[in-house]
Amino acid sequence: MVESVEIGAGQANGRKKDDCLSEQNDRRGIKLSENGLLEGLVVRSQSGFYTVRVGEQTLVCTLPGRFKQGRRTEKNPLVIGDQVLVRPANGQEGAIERILPRRNELARAAAGGVDLKHVLAANLDLVILGFALHEPDLNLPRLDRFLLAAEQAEIPPVIVITKLDLGSTEEAERIMRPYRDIGYPVVLTSVRSGVGLTAIRDILAGKISTIIGSSGVGKSSLLNALQPGLGLRFAEISAATGKGRHTTTVADLLPLDFGGYLADTPGLRELAPWDLDPEEVPLLFPEMRPYLDACRFAHCTHVHEPGCAVRRALEEGLIDPGRYRSYVRIRSESIRDAEPPGRRGG
Ligand code: GDP
Ligand code: ZN
Repeated sequence: MVESVEIGAGQANGRKKDDCLSEQNDRRGIKLSENGLLEGLVVRSQSGFYTVRVGEQTLVCTLPGRFKQGRRTEKNPLVIGDQVLVRPANGQEGAIERILPRRNELARAAAGGVDLKHVLAANLDLVILGFALHEPDLNLPRLDRFLLAAEQAEIPPVIVITKLDLGSTEEAERIMRPYRDIGYPVVLTSVRSGVGLTAIRDILAGKISTIIGSSGVGKSSLLNALQPGLGLRFAEISAATGKGRHTTTVADLLPLDFGGYLADTPGLRELAPWDLDPEEVPLLFPEMRPYLDACRFAHCTHVHEPGCAVRRALEEGLIDPGRYRSYVRIRSESIRDAEPPGRRGG
């Protein structure tokens, strides 16, 4: 079930924000808790130092050792996008006192450790899934996998089609029709013609977001068109995926001229589900949800059972065949990847 998903499950460190803070805002918009702690946003992580933005100023902070203990299932206790309470010291510095509960996490399995979760960023408002219309051709199975990972992480996805000038609007709309029908936002763009750029800017403004997409789809070009130099910075950091460099490379929330931040961290090219339970897969296909309770069998897999309401909807054209194929594929992969029962919950 969705409730058991580790992504978005929040922090282990206790009470809700409202219980432990009586906040007041001063004139610079700095949130001050009762005990002199400042509330801020982690905008940079580099080799154990965290830059925390508090109102208009930034503090370089360290993370006390106690945060690193007892959480061996997670590689990074603190990531970009985290909201923290900081005790300021010496004007420009501070110590992290508390990590506030997360709304969501972008995570993947850490290299080399099956059970080790590598959280890349927290509290994202949206994730852009970038796909070229051509060069390379649109890979719908991959799009479906990214969408499922975004659903699992509870981060709203926005599908952005790039290089529209290499095809036609009609073609792109035809391919994207099933996704629009599900309710996913789709934006068609081209840096050559400039189409869609204002829409992207409006979507990103004031939000913390990131962009996922294979190399060559046009991420850097799109970002540069939105804000000069942004694509270049993004490409530099995202490319730093060499082995053993993850822990020392920088992760950034890049500020956007028009408000908001773009999360940028090494290894953020692909989006994959984390610790996916086969039972959970149907719930991560929004168009299947209305039918799940109508199947004859309570534990219907929606693959071969008689009286399956999902397959009836498929036959009636209410569910897209390509999406259904992705469901079957991802579900069977999740069974293959599932851990033996003895290791669960340990
Ligand atoms: P990234 O690896 O995702 O950052 O992709 P790039 O931004 O480096 O773009 C890859 C290639 O696609 C480059 O040769 C770009 O010039 C080209 N490209 C990017 N955007 C567009 C576009 O809107 N139209 C066309 N025709 N080519 C584009
Ligand atoms: Zn069924």
